[in-house]
Amino acid sequence: MKPPPLKNDCFAMPAGVDWTPVDLALDRLRSGLASVVAPTTVDLSQAGGRVLAQDIKALRANPPLANSAVDGYGFAFGAVPDADICELPLVVGRAAAGIPFDGSLPQGHAIRILTGAALPLGVDTVVLDEDTRLDTADAPTKIAFHRGLRHGANCRKAGEDFAVGDVILPKSNHLGAADLALLAASGHNVVPVFKRLRVGVLSTGSEVVPAGSAATEGQIFDANRPMLLDIIGQWGFDAVDLGHVDDDVDVLRDRLNDAVAQVDAILTSGGASAGDEDHVSALLAAEGGLQTWRIAVKPGRPLALALWRGVPVFGLPGNPVAALVCTLVFARPSLCLLSGAGWPARQGFAVPAAFSKTKKAGRREFLRARINGDGQAEVFKSEGSGRISGLSWATGLVELPDDAQDIRKNDLVQFLPYSEFGLRP
Ligand code: AMP
Ligand code: MG
Repeated sequence: MKPPPLKNDCFAMPAGVDWTPVDLALDRLRSGLASVVAPTTVDLSQAGGRVLAQDIKALRANPPLANSAVDGYGFAFGAVPDADICELPLVVGRAAAGIPFDGSLPQGHAIRILTGAALPLGVDTVVLDEDTRLDTADAPTKIAFHRGLRHGANCRKAGEDFAVGDVILPKSNHLGAADLALLAASGHNVVPVFKRLRVGVLSTGSEVVPAGSAATEGQIFDANRPMLLDIIGQWGFDAVDLGHVDDDVDVLRDRLNDAVAQVDAILTSGGASAGDEDHVSALLAAEGGLQTWRIAVKPGRPLALALWRGVPVFGLPGNPVAALVCTLVFARPSLCLLSGAGWPARQGFAVPAAFSKTKKAGRREFLRARINGDGQAEVFKSEGSGRISGLSWATGLVELPDDAQDIRKNDLVQFLPYSEFGLRP
């Protein structure tokens, strides 16, 4: 017998295997998937986190009427005397938000006006309270202020923010709290959205038992399911708990068959390699048109992708670290596309490294990382993909490019905060 030389690197690329670069894998996912959800409507109060099914046009301008941006005194700019100190007689009455002044302001006069009040006819400029003096405090009849205001000062024009008919939010927008303010202000109370994408999460592995159950020595608690279900919820999808199955093809087949009636996509973890007990990949290969993408990524390979009765299945690796990285990098944009939200951009930040590392060519690497007190990206002490504590320690990932790299301390590296993947910090 002549064994191969010892490499002692489980991530080494086997010779003669076609490794798919991360970007190519992402391009294929992007071109191969499309939205699978139907449109519906929800009340504005329920629209946070939902995905717009149409472009939204303003039904009302903002502001609907020209109004004052401050508490002060309004007048017509053209009628102000040309003097260093301007004095204007005050009319009786005032304009307040929601309580307009009835009538028009005579030329050369000023009127008390409060923030948000519609500008009375004859007012195009407002002077701030703080810049004026009154003749008497109790029942003033005159104001005085210095020269130098510009025409239109302290006034908001009608429609200066948006006009009726302007597209204020595009289709596929993932609605955040600020978008609800915009929808409300523009006159919308019922919002066209896509139905929520339903995503099932299934754990596999005969050694895996649910958290909290009595575990024998050889068993491990299911760490992936609570993590993945929570992530699905954070992304605004309906998380469907498909439970756990042992490494048993028949049980797995039944579970997948049940699942497809309830969900639009499935994330499985474990059993996705080509080992003897990797029943997920075996079953998907035999009956689900499995595409095993040997993706040049660490951690994370292999990623098994299949259609089970038309429902996309993402066969994630069992290691929680690899499962999370694959979920963030590959499953997230795919699920966003299925949900009608479109393919999300990933915004990284170039930050100085707090570490040094020599990286080999030919694979993308994602390191668990966080920003230290000096604003540098610090990486977890171990790259072992079974180290769940490092996932929890991290606040994001450092992404190292496919090429070889010799990273020295203070070199710039790409930091991707978890929040950029739509996760709460
Ligand atoms: P596998 O992808 O099935 O080869 O599993 C890789 C490693 O991940 C093994 O050590 C498994 O025991 C572990 N693993 C698989 N599923 C889970 C899970 N749900 N939670 C925690 N660890 C898991
Ligand atoms: Mg396994």
